[in-house]
Amino acid sequence: MAINKVMVIGAGQMGAGIAQVFAQAGLSVILNDLDQQALDKGIDGIKKRLERAVEKDRISEPEKNKTLDLLSGTTDMNDASNCDLVVEAVVENMDIKTKVFKSLDEITPEHAILASNTSSLPITEIAAATDRPSQVIGMHFMNPVPVMKLVEIIRAIQTSDETYQAIEDLTKKINKSPVEVEDFPGFVSNRILMPMINEAIYTVHEGVASPEDVDTVMKLGMNHPMGPLTLADFIGLDTCLYIMEVLHEGFGDSKYRPCPLLRKYVKAGWLGKKSGRGFYSYE
Ligand code: NAD
Repeated sequence: MAINKVMVIGAGQMGAGIAQVFAQAGLSVILNDLDQQALDKGIDGIKKRLERAVEKDRISEPEKNKTLDLLSGTTDMNDASNCDLVVEAVVENMDIKTKVFKSLDEITPEHAILASNTSSLPITEIAAATDRPSQVIGMHFMNPVPVMKLVEIIRAIQTSDETYQAIEDLTKKINKSPVEVEDFPGFVSNRILMPMINEAIYTVHEGVASPEDVDTVMKLGMNHPMGPLTLADFIGLDTCLYIMEVLHEGFGDSKYRPCPLLRKYVKAGWLGKKSGRGFYSYE
């Protein structure tokens, strides 16, 4: 199936990056957000990243202009009416995501594939909220999207082989590396990563070491490029908490209980880099 026109829903840190990589691969992309300010910020971020890439000779000025020509923004989801694919990247919340998928099911043409960039929520449940479950799939990009090569492709129990193949082909076309994953809480990436981050937060919570020292141990001792608390701030502490809750509920195992300190930070609005404060300060 040919995928030429794409809508990305949610212009936050993931959605804007996803829109950028699609446009850079020559696809026509509409970026959508319900909040005009978030949409402007997302598009502005793409422009800045492309300008920086020109300055560093990674892309040419005409390439930058061609990418921007392929990109448009809207706050109206109805503009997805002639899209072949929609990738949803709104907040990690099942009620919000199923509402978005139900609307998209009504708006988009019959052939369109609906993908979610969810970090952990069951694609099977999202698919069941639509009348086209065989055309629903997980397309889990990594942060920052323009830099990271991996895309986990998650098959819902209902996903057809045709849908899977179209998304695997597209992932290769945008110069990313696909890995096929079954639909279980946290998939592969976050089932392994998030308990490590949660444990790092427990280590701070229990006074074992400061955030700086926890990060230093993991960087210098384990050769991680970034410490787990810096990474948590970068991902967003609200997103980390949602994912831990999904693992906790999905497996029913107390080893996944979210650290109380993580809950406290999220309640305080300390969401990491995007809010200016998390385990570190970004003012
Ligand atoms: P974010 O908070 O930066 O952005 C979410 C955006 O969605 C906001 O701009 C918000 O206004 C918009 N939005 C909310 N409801 C909407 C709706 N109904 N219609 C249109 N727009 C809506 O979040 P993010 O970090 O970009 O995460 C988005 C998704 O990507 C989540 O499911 C998250 O789990 C997943 N994800 C995040 C990361 C990460 O490192 N942050 C990595 C991989 C996947």
